[in-house]
Amino acid sequence: MPEFVGAVDQGTTSTRFMIFDHDGAEVAKYQLEHRQLLPRSGWVEHDPVEIWERTNSVMQNAVRASGLAPADLAAIGITNQRETTVVWDPRNGMPYYNAIVWQDTRTDTIAAGLERDGRGEVIRRKAGLPPATYFSGAKIQWILENVDGVREAAERGHALFGTTDSWVLWNLTGGPGGGVHATDVTNASRTMLMNLETLDWDDELLEIFGVPRAMLPTINPSAHPEAFGRTRTTRPLRTATPITGVLGDQQAATVGQVCFAPGEAKNTYGTGNFLLLNTGTELVRSRSGLLTTVAYRFGDGPTVYALEGSIAVTGSAVQWLRDQLKIIDDAAASERLARSVEDSGGMYFVPAFSGLFAPYWRSDARGAIVGLSRYHNGGHLARATLEAICYQTRDVVGAMDQDSGVHLDVLKVDGGVTGNDLCMQTQADVLGVPVSRPQIAETTALGAAYAAGLAVGFWRDTDELRSHWRESRRWEPQWSRERREEGYAGWKRAVERTLDWVKI
Ligand code: ADP
Repeated sequence: MPEFVGAVDQGTTSTRFMIFDHDGAEVAKYQLEHRQLLPRSGWVEHDPVEIWERTNSVMQNAVRASGLAPADLAAIGITNQRETTVVWDPRNGMPYYNAIVWQDTRTDTIAAGLERDGRGEVIRRKAGLPPATYFSGAKIQWILENVDGVREAAERGHALFGTTDSWVLWNLTGGPGGGVHATDVTNASRTMLMNLETLDWDDELLEIFGVPRAMLPTINPSAHPEAFGRTRTTRPLRTATPITGVLGDQQAATVGQVCFAPGEAKNTYGTGNFLLLNTGTELVRSRSGLLTTVAYRFGDGPTVYALEGSIAVTGSAVQWLRDQLKIIDDAAASERLARSVEDSGGMYFVPAFSGLFAPYWRSDARGAIVGLSRYHNGGHLARATLEAICYQTRDVVGAMDQDSGVHLDVLKVDGGVTGNDLCMQTQADVLGVPVSRPQIAETTALGAAYAAGLAVGFWRDTDELRSHWRESRRWEPQWSRERREEGYAGWKRAVERTLDWVKI
């Protein structure tokens, strides 16, 4: 039996391939960024061909770096940026249009229209999601309506839709003539097209977005020994390795953080932030602006659901300081700059670049910096940026408390921003709850590897996975209750300004 499991992590900013051993320890990793295409204000695209090329390179390079042979991999899992929409021609493997990324807001008028005429309620009830630009349904509709010939092609089976898991899977398993066109329940639950109870594409939802069923992938469980096929025997690996796990990135991180019991939650800090709370086999409907989503389904096991608080802009606000304002050279410098001042001096930054997601769901909101005086400098702005990450998290933790009655006594965290010590300390201060980071920071890739390994018996069960989890670092709250509440009240007022702005 081969002794390792591999995982492709096709993320928003980069693609990586990781190899893990039986203890869940990292053996090799290789990562490459891809371009962020920003053709207009509010539009965000990726080139699917570039993503597929990056996937090939990272798989080959990670295997080479590990000194292993591809045959040493018992199975491969795939995890991916969710919702990002690719439509391609299965005859030649060429995309009809760039991938429309989850952050893209070009479909805001479609989303607003759904909210006005009652169809939004149907989507909420059946898909567990508020109508928003975030999800795939309206992005597919936009491509069908705006790219010449795609609608006719889709009706004849000559245009396939997939999130990037499906795009990578189809290519890895053979591409034109042989590719497996499939996705998993977690990714399908982000399209606004899947019924959360039947776990199948829903005719009424397809009708709302005008999406022909013929273009949609088969929905599989997140872990399955055969349903996703094997890698083709050409590049990148030249061996027929089974692909046995597929999970959206946030669900994968939930699995990687071993949140297998109802009431367990994790918060991932990457481009955006995503807090997921396991609600067990019960489908909990939110009254406070959270999403109901599928957490995972392993093989024939029960479907496990989650409540999710999604925040569009957290780490990407740090990227904005770097790339647009150019006040830092790299993301880690945000901490040094923020430490150059004692506090934010009453300044708040609400980075509503893609509108506001949970718990507000206002696609029309736009960013604001409030409380400015001549005294403020770049240090205050860096601090306000890190605080915004923490206050947005407090918004969704509060919503989760209301919806589920679960009061977190510790917040499990992961993702790129958790390398920022000041930000994590501030998070504990703002929440009044300790923050805990595991030894294996790459929980997303790990979760996909876990799903793939469970499917082939590489790991016995979730209890075995649970035994791998170890804390590496913990931050205890230090602020007084008074400071915490005063700071948060200021944040709420700042958020009001970003919502006022669009009414003017
Ligand atoms: P994703 O999977 O969404 O691409 P990652 O988990 O790789 O994200 O995290 C990358 C994000 O984390 C970037 O937006 C970057 O700005 C941010 N980031 C990385 N390191 C730091 C740091 N030390 N301080 C603040 N932000 C950071």
